[in-house]
Amino acid sequence: MGGIRALEAVGIHPVVCHMNEGHCAFLSIERLHQCMKRHHVDLKTAMEIVPRSTVFTTHTPVAAGHDEFPAFMVRPYLAPLAKLLGTTEDTILSWGQADGAGPDGPLSMFVLAMRMAEHINGVSRLHGRVARNMWSHVWPGIPEDEVPITHVTNGVHPATWVSLEFDLLFNRYLGPEWDLRHSDPAVINRVDAIYDDELWRSHEMSRSRLIRYCRDRMVKQFSRRNAPRALVEEAASVLDQDVLTIAFARRFATYKRAYLLFQDPERLEALVNDPNHPVQIIFAGKAHPKDNEGKDMIKSLVQTIRRPGLRKRIIFLEDYDMAIARHLVQGADVWLNNPRRPLEACGTSGMKAALNGVLNVSVLDGWWAEGYEPSRGWAVGRGEDYRDHQYQDATESKALYNVLENDVIPTFYERRESDTPKRWVKMMKESIKMALADYSSHRMIAEYRDRFYRPSAAKAKTLVADRSAAAKSLVEQHARLKALWPAVRLSTPQRDRSGSMRVGDSFKVSVEVFLGELMPSEVSVELYYGELEDMDALRSGEAVPMGVAKELGGSRYLYECTITCGSAGRYGFTARVLPAGDKRIRFSPHLITWA
Ligand SMILES: *Cc1c(COP(=O)(O)O)cnc(C)c1O
Repeated sequence: MGGIRALEAVGIHPVVCHMNEGHCAFLSIERLHQCMKRHHVDLKTAMEIVPRSTVFTTHTPVAAGHDEFPAFMVRPYLAPLAKLLGTTEDTILSWGQADGAGPDGPLSMFVLAMRMAEHINGVSRLHGRVARNMWSHVWPGIPEDEVPITHVTNGVHPATWVSLEFDLLFNRYLGPEWDLRHSDPAVINRVDAIYDDELWRSHEMSRSRLIRYCRDRMVKQFSRRNAPRALVEEAASVLDQDVLTIAFARRFATYKRAYLLFQDPERLEALVNDPNHPVQIIFAGKAHPKDNEGKDMIKSLVQTIRRPGLRKRIIFLEDYDMAIARHLVQGADVWLNNPRRPLEACGTSGMKAALNGVLNVSVLDGWWAEGYEPSRGWAVGRGEDYRDHQYQDATESKALYNVLENDVIPTFYERRESDTPKRWVKMMKESIKMALADYSSHRMIAEYRDRFYRPSAAKAKTLVADRSAAAKSLVEQHARLKALWPAVRLSTPQRDRSGSMRVGDSFKVSVEVFLGELMPSEVSVELYYGELEDMDALRSGEAVPMGVAKELGGSRYLYECTITCGSAGRYGFTARVLPAGDKRIRFSPHLITWA
């Protein structure tokens, strides 16, 4: 609220606001207030305007990660706001209460944010799905896959993360402003024209810089702790220039499972010390100051890598920050990520790595569930979800060792005609093309702009034009729908052919709908069909609009549509009525009636 007031004080009146997580959801309350003042409208009208110019992005796939406050605790703070808006504390409270929570239910910042935003999104395709599942209870009657939470996959800012060497290469081969040409495949595909040796040498330069940087940091780390001189000297020569280098750098939250690689210490020791094909691993990270489990994870990792068989090959860098991240995502060969699926909403460090030709080895979670292809990296597992965490750790650590031993290491050390690993470099190029085209922040911003910001800004303008006429008529429409909806009824839909059908066959479905005082133009009647899970449940469905075929009199209408059988299987169908209009109208709570 303070932020919005500060903007107002300096004369900035944002038309659209984008809420990043639920923490800032109260900005909508201040905007409602400002909207009422600016456009001389009542609260109900402002409620038709402000949410339609608000975007809400959620990042957290864990319910416990979303703020909730007991009603008694927030009420005192709501009193002045209620006065501001000319309403009651309970009304404001109810905006943040989940359906069925009751008048004393807690205020959820997520629910408040979601009720205040027409556009809601998660930050990767998989996270969108997880969020729809997590929050489907807030949209009663709406099938989970239709819950209005979409996704915009995150991206990283290329100019911030690209190495000096690769920036030069991209400038030469792709042209100046290569970072802004993410939507031009002709530009992106010029990555293929980079000479393999040139790309590889540029990468080796970054790796060698990384190793010098690690030695520096290690010496400082040990000196700061007054370590014995022998240890400090050893730190000055850790790691090797030409060894396959794996980086694991992130916040040490438990779900990121930094310990996974250590599940079988003997196998790890053999792997890193292989005389012909050795591997070295750089860990970096920090835990949240209040996260004791995370801190314990670091402690146990640091203790484990003190073993004589590991300590020349595995290091831990303290105080992970952007400077360390930059060196790592540029100079490592492999970027390792093994979160417990589906808890990584997106993950972005792997994108920074991919941009620099660092190959991802990752669980199919977050962005990698959509970015992974065998031509540009490796998957640990196949995107399974587990109940038993211990079993999951055991299975996935084995999968990880297997991928490293059977695929990653042999590909890296395969040097046929020259010192350049050809197959590896090919994968680096695929990885770079993927990062430039799909995981750049410029692509992400363009998506927010085209899908949310511009349509919202245009809509806000229309709504307030002509003394907010359009917004006022939405108030009336909402009131009418709410009052008249309980009368809406549908009969059981009927098809015009019985028995089984073949792929390609068409049939007609009709349903009788009683609309009471509502007009057909105010509703959408839809056939909903999909594969049967059992006799009365569909696995997932598809909605097809139905049209009025006949007026039957007495507010009854016959609706029809034609379906063509697209694939084999046992299918079922039903029908439903929803309000006709934009997302805010269509997904009005409780205004959906099923046959
Ligand atoms: C990119 C980055 C992160 C986020 O990485 P994830 O893959 O999302 O865990 C965290 N910290 C720093 C310093 C970074 O550069």
